[in-house]
Amino acid sequence: AEEMLIRSEKLSIVGQLAAGLAHEIRNPLTSLKGFTQLLKSRSKDDAFYFDTMLTELERINLIVNDFMTLAKPQLSQFGYGNVNGMLEHVISILSHQAIMMNVALISKAHKALPDIYCDENQLKQVFINLIKNAIEAMPKGGNVTITAEQTNSEQLRIRIRDQGEGIPDTIANKLGEPFLTTKSNGTGLGLMISYRIVEQHHGSMTIKSSENKGTTIELLLPVHGEPLNKTPTAHIG
Ligand code: ADP
Ligand code: MG
Repeated sequence: AEEMLIRSEKLSIVGQLAAGLAHEIRNPLTSLKGFTQLLKSRSKDDAFYFDTMLTELERINLIVNDFMTLAKPQLSQFGYGNVNGMLEHVISILSHQAIMMNVALISKAHKALPDIYCDENQLKQVFINLIKNAIEAMPKGGNVTITAEQTNSEQLRIRIRDQGEGIPDTIANKLGEPFLTTKSNGTGLGLMISYRIVEQHHGSMTIKSSENKGTTIELLLPVHGEPLNKTPTAHIG
């Protein structure tokens, strides 16, 4: 098993610019989509061209949405929140997509967890990114098992396990780099954003993956927002 360090510098001026740019692109994009749909409905002959335009516009939309999560103010929304509640909410958001893909989202019954110091919306974004990846890793369906437990008075451990294809060796040492994707409709931003958010919470994210057996992502999060003395790492093997 290899061990890798993930690049995770603080949100740079470039990151802020990118996030601001994403915000600015959103409104014109919405009107482009709307009028393209309108033109498509008026001109049946050119449907193919309009469909291609809509697909490409949707792709821009996905990238912009991912960048938007970097634009949200970082520190102002920190407070105490409950991970069980966040997971429940995220599972309900993703349940439709899971059913469509023949995937069962199994949340292991866990005892009441202490509230942790976090930015709830940002943490939910991490859970969404990771559970989505787990669903997408199982095109033929399967189980995603999500567990959350308290390891000691200072930290929680959250595991997201799938039975999917595993992370290809070819990208294992690049995980967390922007635009790294093996999917035709992927943005390659989900893991990078997740690493960044987890780091802002002084937590760590470990990835264990073996081909055709599946992938397990383990998050360690401090209860009181104090550093755990761990750098985000990924283990592949
Ligand atoms: P995206 O999902 O848009 O491709 P991500 O940053 O979320 O971007 O993931 C990057 C890549 O890492 C994916 O394209 C995929 O190859 C790999 N990956 C991430 N999570 C998993 C997983 N649970 N199982 C298999 N591969 C994964
Ligand atoms: Mg993803």
